[in-house]
Amino acid sequence: MSEPHLLLFGPPGAGKGTQSANVADAYGIEHVTTGDALRANKDMETEHGTPREYMEAGELVPDPVVDAIVAEALATAEGYVLDGYPRNLDQAAELDAMTDLDAAAYLSVSESTLVERLTGRRVCTECGRNHHVEFDPPEEAGVCDDCGGELTQREDDTEDVVRERLRVYRENTEPVVERYRERGELIEIDGEQPPEAVWTDLDAAIENVL
Ligand code: ADP
Ligand code: ADP
Ligand code: ZN
Repeated sequence: MSEPHLLLFGPPGAGKGTQSANVADAYGIEHVTTGDALRANKDMETEHGTPREYMEAGELVPDPVVDAIVAEALATAEGYVLDGYPRNLDQAAELDAMTDLDAAAYLSVSESTLVERLTGRRVCTECGRNHHVEFDPPEEAGVCDDCGGELTQREDDTEDVVRERLRVYRENTEPVVERYRERGELIEIDGEQPPEAVWTDLDAAIENVL
């Protein structure tokens, strides 16, 4: 059988990055994430400007830029878990034309929890692992448990930008989630649970469709 093609949906802070890392490990597939790819190319000049200006404001980076990133990543990946794309209906149509999915899972989390998770998130500058000051604190403050790298706060994880990202999510991405739900292709996972319980449910749901 060919390697799985999986999609992980959810609002900012739902746990997509955390759970995608589990999925990639467990299934031996690539974690394709537009957020990380854009952060690594923040100052790339495009005809629409640089990703940085959109990201720091919490707005979507223009479709042609993200579509190209995803097309290139999927062309070389055997199996993958896609995180952070599609974020609007045009991107969803683009993805349909690019590939076939085995499963689309949605992590559902309340808005008050999302704000707590995002403002407390700390990211390792070396390996990319996420910690949380309260929900997943590192053993030593400011130091990554996995690799000893330095933990920093993302510029867009401040309360103001978080509110704007959640608004952009409701306006642009919720219709995409609805579309998958209406087609009967969405697996809903209770993302409010502790990370281990979310992973147990997600893994079982994926096993079930493969
Ligand atoms: P996303 O990629 O969807 O934005 P992340 O995986 O980066 O979300 O998670 C956001 C923050 O919440 C991180 O600091 C992470 O450590 C923490 N987190 C992730 N999953 C959970 C969970 N199930 N319960 C509590 N905190 C979580
Ligand atoms: P989170 O899931 O925690 O909101 P990401 O790391 O996925 O964060 O995304 C960070 C930022 O990168 C977004 O706010 C947006 O500016 C940009 N971005 C990521 N994915 C996309 C996408 N598919 N389309 C447009 N912009 C994107
Ligand atoms: Zn690290």
